Amino acid sequence: MSKKVVVIGGGFGGLAAAARLAARGHEVHLYDKRDQLGGRAYQYEINGFHFDGGPTVITAPHLFDDIFAAAGRRREDYFTLLPLDPLYRFFDQEGRCFNYWRGLDETAQEVARYNPDDAERYRAMLEHIRHIFDTFQPYSDKPLTTLGQMMTIMPDMVRLQAFMNTDWFIERYLKDPFLRKVFTFHPLLIGGNPLDTPAIYTLIMQFEKQWGVFYPQGGTGAIVRGFEKLLRELGVHIHLQREVAQIVIQNHKATGIRLDGGEEVKADAVVCNGDLPFVYKHLISAAHRRRFTDRKVDRMNYSMSLLVIYFGTKKRYLDSPLAHHNIIVNSRFRGWLKDIFRHATLPEDFSLYVHMPSRSDDSISPPGHENFYALVPVPDMRASIKWEQVGPLLRDKALAFLEEHYLPDLRANIVALHHIDPTHFRHTLNSQYGAAFSLRPTLLQSANFRPHCQSEEFDNLYFVGAGTHPGAGVPSVLSSGKIAADLIG
Ligand SMILES: Cc1cc2nc3c(=O)[nH]c(=O)nc-3n(C[C@H](O)[C@H](O)[C@H](O)COP(=O)(O)OP(=O)(O)OC[C@H]3O[C@@H](n4cnc5c(N)ncnc54)[C@H](O)[C@@H]3O)c2cc1C
Repeated sequence: MSKKVVVIGGGFGGLAAAARLAARGHEVHLYDKRDQLGGRAYQYEINGFHFDGGPTVITAPHLFDDIFAAAGRRREDYFTLLPLDPLYRFFDQEGRCFNYWRGLDETAQEVARYNPDDAERYRAMLEHIRHIFDTFQPYSDKPLTTLGQMMTIMPDMVRLQAFMNTDWFIERYLKDPFLRKVFTFHPLLIGGNPLDTPAIYTLIMQFEKQWGVFYPQGGTGAIVRGFEKLLRELGVHIHLQREVAQIVIQNHKATGIRLDGGEEVKADAVVCNGDLPFVYKHLISAAHRRRFTDRKVDRMNYSMSLLVIYFGTKKRYLDSPLAHHNIIVNSRFRGWLKDIFRHATLPEDFSLYVHMPSRSDDSISPPGHENFYALVPVPDMRASIKWEQVGPLLRDKALAFLEEHYLPDLRANIVALHHIDPTHFRHTLNSQYGAAFSLRPTLLQSANFRPHCQSEEFDNLYFVGAGTHPGAGVPSVLSSGKIAADLIG
């Protein structure tokens, strides 16, 4: 039976759920407070540059294909995905680089360049990770809600040591200090602290090996535009610049939403793509909540936040050692992680992710120009940092570092510049504490323990996106869209 469904938020989780629900014949209304769809994948246009605001590492293309196929379409007719190899280029403090290839043999050769003894151990580690992937990946697009499911998972968690933290897991295999950092980095890509992210999340490495890393022609914004076209073809009513102020609850059931202007929209089901903890705390009256009380929300574990600098230069930097995806790792890695996640202080040093998409695509900058973004992990807003002052200082420090080591005369060549900091995540994206990836993927906030896609508290309320199962990152939030759509029927 066709239902009227309201989707709050047009991030990838909301887009996936809206497309699947509309393809099944439901009447779907999608509301987003911003002027473009995409959420964290917002694309900024500045002086002729197209800067992808957030996700750039796109993997598991079949997850997109499946959504378009469910609507009787071919994904290839909406956007193009180009494979990248190396998947990433890592740099140590001396500027030496490590190419992280998709192929096992090529990466093992790179490992051997750093430490010949680690090459065999790397192969053994990947074999272990493949077992973790084969065992747990099938749960990623299913609702994990029952104790029975958890009892089934637990023995495998123990057998595969997937409950141990990633740092410990990698250290068991690799001896070289730099290689350890390279292979411990992945939790940060989904907002996790490698020191407390369970090794179950190493399956992301197998995702990339098995399915590859892709660049969408035109940037990640092209995927968002592809989704928007699909949604409009399917008759989804898209309402931009409409903020939802409240989820209306009656008798423990979501009956609709109230917009910030006061208008009420009734619905048979509400799918919420806003940040889950923020939504419970701010969009649902405390009088209705028993489980997700303000106290509980405040005490949950959150991902780090980010300072992201988007910059375009009037010259090309094709001679630079930078590849499309780059990770520059600092020497004080564990101390740096502790500063950000445990001590909530802004470290003096930093690790950086640098995106250089104009290596692969001329269409995203004016001719003869280069398009970059640099991402610096920082503590969430519980750290008392005055971002209006500290943000520009940290931005300038990161740019000076890149100029000194990778991009000569950078600052004199910048012709487009923008940055976002934790206040953007808090105030523009409505995320609790300005966390960039919502709830941190700790053991007690994973699988069955992570808030469920079907609200534990209210009927007819569903969650999609980074704060629910299976977690943050584009593949995961696309899967949450499938789970929610399957639950609604
Ligand atoms: C800088 C950065 C880089 C990243 N890089 C990668 C990467 O390379 N690969 C990868 O896989 N993942 C990456 N991630 C993570 C990934 O982008 C996110 O986990 C994912 O996109 C989040 O999607 P979501 O469905 O949770 O929705 P979001 O993108 O969080 O969107 C939520 C939407 O809801 C809207 N909204 C919120 N509240 C309301 C309200 N009350 N009323 C109306 N609208 C509302 C917001 O405006 C927003 O549009 C990155 C994240 C960041 C921040």
